[in-house]
Amino acid sequence: MKIEVITLFPELVEQVTRHGMPRIAVEGGQLSLSTRNPRDYSTNKWRRVDDRPYGGGPGMVMEAEPLAAAIAEAKATVGPAKVVYLSPQGSRFDQQWAQRLSAEPGLVLLCGRYEGLDERLVQQEVDLELSLGDFVLSGGELAAMAMLDAIARLLPGVLGHEQSAVSDSFTDGVLDHPHWTRPEMWRDAGVPEVLMSGDHAKIARWRRQQALGQTWLKRPELLDGLELDDDSRALLREFIARQR
Ligand code: SAM
Repeated sequence: MKIEVITLFPELVEQVTRHGMPRIAVEGGQLSLSTRNPRDYSTNKWRRVDDRPYGGGPGMVMEAEPLAAAIAEAKATVGPAKVVYLSPQGSRFDQQWAQRLSAEPGLVLLCGRYEGLDERLVQQEVDLELSLGDFVLSGGELAAMAMLDAIARLLPGVLGHEQSAVSDSFTDGVLDHPHWTRPEMWRDAGVPEVLMSGDHAKIARWRRQQALGQTWLKRPELLDGLELDDDSRALLREFIARQR
């Protein structure tokens, strides 16, 4: 998959591929990341790409033309690609979005700064607006980096153990089950007995119950839209009964 990020701070975004799963994805050839600075498309000698807003008011607005030129070249590099504007006004990015975008051949991620972009650029060049959450960042870079990380770990072969993405929170609509590791006893707290049993079917069933139970405890609204089979419903009922 090819991703190009259009940003005034390329060196910041490039950091994301120095560590963790994005790095593995780049080194493994599953992800190619490039950056493009809109200042390189500015036509003034100060390399400015922002101007005052029509109608007055505080702040500056990113001009349409340098961004349009950067997008055109990004598309020529990446090939068929959706242009995604990282924006607090976009749809909330979540694991479903990460899964959907990881199946795309290419993406152009557009990072705003200042008050945002000239609206004409958004209307004419942007395919999709995505938000990291209901808060305002000073730029789209951290949002782009978060999305890149979430997408990179879903690319085939990037995670060492294919199953680890399967049990991840949100993958099948519920949270991940809790985890324990060595030592067997820590601050007088042991490890649930079933995990020491070696009975893999029993462990899988217990983990499923824990995943459902943790979702019920921490994010009950996630269960609302979920069609659970009879077995999962029974596991959840049993979990809830034990809490009372
Ligand atoms: N005036 C804009 C508004 O209130 O909708 C906010 C502009 S913000 C200071 C500058 C840039 O940061 C935006 O153009 C966008 O690219 C990015 N940004 C801010 N919050 C974001 C969020 N929650 N998710 C994704 N990008 C965000």
